[in-house]
Amino acid sequence: MERSKKIIRTSFVGIGVNLILVIFKAAVGLISGSVAVIMDAVNNLSDALSSVITIIGTKISGRKPDKKHPYGHGRVEYITSALISIIVLATGIISLKESIEKIITPEKATYGVVSIVIIVAAIAAKLAVGIYVRSVGKKLSSGALEASGSDALFDAVLSGGTLIAALISVIWGITLEGWFGAIISLFIIKAGIEMLGKTVSSIIGKRADPELTEKLKEALCAYDEVRGCYDLALHNYGPERIIGSAHVEVQDDMTAKEIHKLTRRIATDIYMKFGIVLTIGIYASHEDELTAGMKNDLDAIVSEYPGILQVHGFYVDEEQMTVTFDLVIDFKADAQSICDEVVAKMKQKHGDYTFFAVLDSDYSD
Ligand SMILES: [Zn+2]
Repeated sequence: MERSKKIIRTSFVGIGVNLILVIFKAAVGLISGSVAVIMDAVNNLSDALSSVITIIGTKISGRKPDKKHPYGHGRVEYITSALISIIVLATGIISLKESIEKIITPEKATYGVVSIVIIVAAIAAKLAVGIYVRSVGKKLSSGALEASGSDALFDAVLSGGTLIAALISVIWGITLEGWFGAIISLFIIKAGIEMLGKTVSSIIGKRADPELTEKLKEALCAYDEVRGCYDLALHNYGPERIIGSAHVEVQDDMTAKEIHKLTRRIATDIYMKFGIVLTIGIYASHEDELTAGMKNDLDAIVSEYPGILQVHGFYVDEEQMTVTFDLVIDFKADAQSICDEVVAKMKQKHGDYTFFAVLDSDYSD
């Protein structure tokens, strides 16, 4: 089954469980004439909201690319996750406020058998649905499902706290509901902030998963003609759509025809294997004594700078008397001044050559 269909089906389970709870509570409330229980039923109706948002978000994100959004609509999923994280955060803040009010003016709770039965049933149902939805969300890397599963789990924990407080109140006659609620609320607020942070970070654009980049580099370097692969950059438009670019180094006597064949083959293989559309750029390399000697000098200079993560694309053009190379420098280091110093030191050793260093960004591991 398609990923989006699985997400929608799982969300319907969430809605179904909440609706059953609504009917159950409403019936009990009407029969026993308890306004509190009827209000609780209404509250349950709003818990289905995160599942509804997930379904709508999944439908929109599944839309095909169009002229206005040529990269597809996959990033809608991040917005959906952010919305649900905000719901979780709001739940935490509201229940913290209610708990503080209960601490200030504790009411002697009167729990009937009916309300305890309802609480236990609700905890069991929410716990089950929360664990299920969250695990499916993790498996499908759907932030929205994960968040809405967590939402249900937090509801269960809050109800659990209420139940324990009720039991303590019945047995020892102390009212702890406010304190229990406050502590649990703080946990929910923390989790909500973390969930929101995670999705916002996806929207901003995160460093690519090192496991994936490792495998990609391995695949790129597997071709006989490829002497090295660098500058791998990946952009995602939702969890399922990744495009990117990379440089591969080949011998400088390869013809355009040979390079054409090679890069086509690489791009096709990568797409088939990873589903990633990768644009391949070319660096030329040449092996002779002059190049090896200069490269040794450069390596010696570079070793003095811990901020330099990598040197690549080293190429000596004897006709033009130019040398080009790329430096990948740590984001924390002062890239431009390190680059200038390295070029100046190379110039000291090889005065007749002009050096061009390109600063590459540390996009991936
Ligand atoms: Zn480069």
